[in-house]
Amino acid sequence: MIHVVEDYIPLNPYSRPGLKLKAKRGIVMHYTASPGASARNISQYFAGLAHQNVSKGTKARYASAHFSVDRTSIYCSLPDDEVAYHCGSKTYTEEALKKLGSYPNNSTVGIEMCIEKDGSIHEDTFNRVVDLAVYLIQQRGFPEIFFTHKEVVGWKECPLPWIKEPEQYERFKQDVHKKLNSLVEHTVTEDDEMNQVLNYAEWAWRELNQYIGDAYKDQIIHEQAWVEKVRKRALTYGELLMLKVIIDERRRKGNGKPSQSD
Ligand SMILES: [Zn+2]
Repeated sequence: MIHVVEDYIPLNPYSRPGLKLKAKRGIVMHYTASPGASARNISQYFAGLAHQNVSKGTKARYASAHFSVDRTSIYCSLPDDEVAYHCGSKTYTEEALKKLGSYPNNSTVGIEMCIEKDGSIHEDTFNRVVDLAVYLIQQRGFPEIFFTHKEVVGWKECPLPWIKEPEQYERFKQDVHKKLNSLVEHTVTEDDEMNQVLNYAEWAWRELNQYIGDAYKDQIIHEQAWVEKVRKRALTYGELLMLKVIIDERRRKGNGKPSQSD
């Protein structure tokens, strides 16, 4: 499980317009460009944009991202189904237009990676971002489609550490993919166990035969097929679990007639 600090910024025109995403089409990766700034600092910065004074002829600044990640924490500045201003541009790359639509802020979630004082992305930050991406794909309905900010707009050198070292970006995508796959494999393994035929000792099969036979005789279960399955030792773990639940439940409710044998 990942831990996310919910630090929603107030609705405001500059960093949280309160619009819903039109679709979930991709995950856009950024870096903060502020050496040493924490995830909390970044979230506070986005919140602070709500109060900017634009009356003096200064240009308003529109910026935000859903998540900011550092070595020890993940801050969430706005819900992941709302529009953030993280990859707006006058022009976009062909690939972005094709996969994300004409206004990518409408269809993407933005992640800010914090950098160390020397400008690097710490390995703990890297791993936390991997976990966050896996969470967004597995639990929040985003596709496994990544863009760097640069891949969206073409001109911005963001995230700079990955533009300098593209192999790190590749490693990130591979790590996410591996994690997603290992989760799938784990689930399949559990399912397979349920579908395996029981591998019991002789005496256990006899006990089971008795248990199912009695249930049939007492009309707790009504299909001879179950008795046959046990007799032929073709019952799976999953089937046994289900049978046991049915039999115990019906016996508890007294649905079955008492055995006539005694
Ligand atoms: Zn960026």
